[in-house]
Amino acid sequence: MTASAKPARALRRDIVTAIPGPRSQQLMERRHSVVARGVGSALSAYIEAASPGLLHDVDGNTLIDLGSGLGVTSVGNAAPEVAAAVREQASRLTHTCFLASPYEAYVDVCEELARLTPGGHEKRSVLLSTGAEAVENAVKIARAATGRSAVVALDHAYHGRTNLTLGLTARNAPFKQNFGPFTPDIHRIPASYPYRDPEGMTGEQAARRALEALDRQVGGENVAAVVVEPVQGEGGFIVPAAGFLPTLARWCQEHGALFVADEIQSGFCRTGAWFASEHEHVVPDLVVTAKAIAGGLPLSAVTGRAELMDAVQPGGFGGTFGGNPVACAAALASIRLMRDGDLAGRARHIGQVLFVRLGALAARHGALAEVRGRGAMVGVEIVRPDSDRPDAELASRIAAACQARGVLLLTAGTYGNVLRFLPSLVMPDALLSDALDVLEECCVQLIG
Ligand SMILES: *Cc1c(COP(=O)(O)O)cnc(C)c1O
Repeated sequence: MTASAKPARALRRDIVTAIPGPRSQQLMERRHSVVARGVGSALSAYIEAASPGLLHDVDGNTLIDLGSGLGVTSVGNAAPEVAAAVREQASRLTHTCFLASPYEAYVDVCEELARLTPGGHEKRSVLLSTGAEAVENAVKIARAATGRSAVVALDHAYHGRTNLTLGLTARNAPFKQNFGPFTPDIHRIPASYPYRDPEGMTGEQAARRALEALDRQVGGENVAAVVVEPVQGEGGFIVPAAGFLPTLARWCQEHGALFVADEIQSGFCRTGAWFASEHEHVVPDLVVTAKAIAGGLPLSAVTGRAELMDAVQPGGFGGTFGGNPVACAAALASIRLMRDGDLAGRARHIGQVLFVRLGALAARHGALAEVRGRGAMVGVEIVRPDSDRPDAELASRIAAACQARGVLLLTAGTYGNVLRFLPSLVMPDALLSDALDVLEECCVQLIG
């Protein structure tokens, strides 16, 4: 097919076939004979291109994207500056393996991470390929630096899908089911979940509830690390009550354990700051990043206090693809876009729009029990009438109805009942507003 024969791509929501259209249906059939069924897809349409805030499918439909590929394309999908950096880098050097022969872009990214992550202390970083791999390395660092083995994670946590990180991840089905046993010496403590905690429970009280269990069952002197998402993502976009994170961080400091912030989803401007830890002035010992760091290319990192990071012996870190030069070039271009475009400010603006519109919707429909989040990381918890019982079925029906009208809205949550809003930080206001109009129509249609 020549370029001119392709349908012109709309720069607004535009649905010209059923979702999925005929070409997507053909791809679904091909997929069923070759792609493992354990790989799911929220959207039934197949995507061939993107523009700011939009996905263009193979049937000529254009959808508004409220998911950003799980919070990855914050600077835009196929952002021209990222694409140019990728092209330039790929035409010069695609790979050497930093362990075999080093290159400058790796050092540049580590310098940016030292500047941008919380705290003015001396820092070191290691670059890896995926979020789960970075979390695994954070645990290795914590064990090497403390000489201890116990690792602590929270209820509702999500840290990845490798064996160690599945052990840290809280939710059984579908993530953990059939995949055990998991690595030993991982311990789970209650999170702060304001909507479901006892009325009026403060962050300090929620932290004490967690830490008392930890002192009793594990013993502070045995804990290498407490691994925390400053805003829990997959678990339901849960913002802990104020005081929860600082109290955990203080406990870590008092007990010689590392406070590890998993900022894979909440980092890089998503919550209206470079990192979500900043909202409570928490300075983590280690910060784990991935997702939005490189505008869609696979890259992750652990950044931490120099003396902790350097507890790992030379050669103790590695991986063939970690810190790939093309991914590093994309990260440098993405970070520049975040800085020059004040995307943290954009995230706060998007958050305000979402809170106003979703708040009004929640006032009309009791099923929308709570609107919560920080910046452009916003969730809506869906419950059954006159109760706090999760309604995953209604959440899925709302998401499906939005999809049929050309809005990709994902769900999340331990109970599967949270609508999750993770728009690109360059999403034009008019698109966001149109997506929220669609959601409103769907709520009226499904809830009445
Ligand atoms: C996505 C995510 C991970 C896992 O990252 P992958 O790149 O999928 O391995 C870990 N922690 C959090 C908070 C995440 O959102």
